[in-house]
Amino acid sequence: DARRQLVLAQKKTDFVSNVSHELKTPLTSIRMFAELLQERRVSDPAKTADYLRIIRLEAERLTRLINNVLDFARFERNQQHYTPRLVDLLPQVESLWEAQAEHLRSAGFEVSAEMVAGPWWCLVDPDAITQILLNLLSNSEKYSSAQKEIALQAIAKSRVLQISVQDRGSGIPSGAEEKIFESFYRAHDSLSNGIPGSGLGLTLARRIAREHGGDILFARRPGGGSVFTLFIPLHEPPSAP
Ligand code: ADP
Repeated sequence: DARRQLVLAQKKTDFVSNVSHELKTPLTSIRMFAELLQERRVSDPAKTADYLRIIRLEAERLTRLINNVLDFARFERNQQHYTPRLVDLLPQVESLWEAQAEHLRSAGFEVSAEMVAGPWWCLVDPDAITQILLNLLSNSEKYSSAQKEIALQAIAKSRVLQISVQDRGSGIPSGAEEKIFESFYRAHDSLSNGIPGSGLGLTLARRIAREHGGDILFARRPGGGSVFTLFIPLHEPPSAP
């Protein structure tokens, strides 16, 4: 019992320092770029646009982190509920990918997508599905290596939609394939590699997927890297009124 308490105390300390680090990084760049703009030291309009884009992206990163922490707390208290509705997920995933692909390209990634024809009728909370995909894409970006390449693939098999995010990043050390879904677990030590993270992204992504009757699975990508696949049951199309 004492040992379990000790492990828990260590996990809490790591979590607090990981989250503080993850909050601090975007806040520092938001403050720095806002100051530069406020002092009117940048006269080039392209630079101004670039700084504003960074501020927006970093603010989005903060929102994502805070949403993850709040949702995690709600799950822990059994207070996380979704309002599923019958939606065609294809247009939503397409527009999410459009925005993310543009961001990834400007960060030096080679991107590609292959999606099965729609409609993809699913009984889901659409925002929750977006949250899962953003968590997976942000991980593929964060844990990338020299070969910066991300592919999105969506297929339908046995009435299940499978959306996978495939990268050429650092991969998952053997033995950690299931642990990465545990809360607070980080396979690549943040202190040694400086990549910010809370260890909650995959825990939440899997919980949300399971709440929707689906799941998230990890696989090694042939040739190196990772594949994270979101499984969501497909639904009958809405009946005509
Ligand atoms: P974090 O906030 O640390 O990114 P996650 O729960 O999203 O937390 O992921 C848990 C751990 O799994 C990460 O710390 C990282 O070590 C590993 N991981 C997740 N996604 C990837 C990926 N695409 N490539 C390599 N490692 C990954």
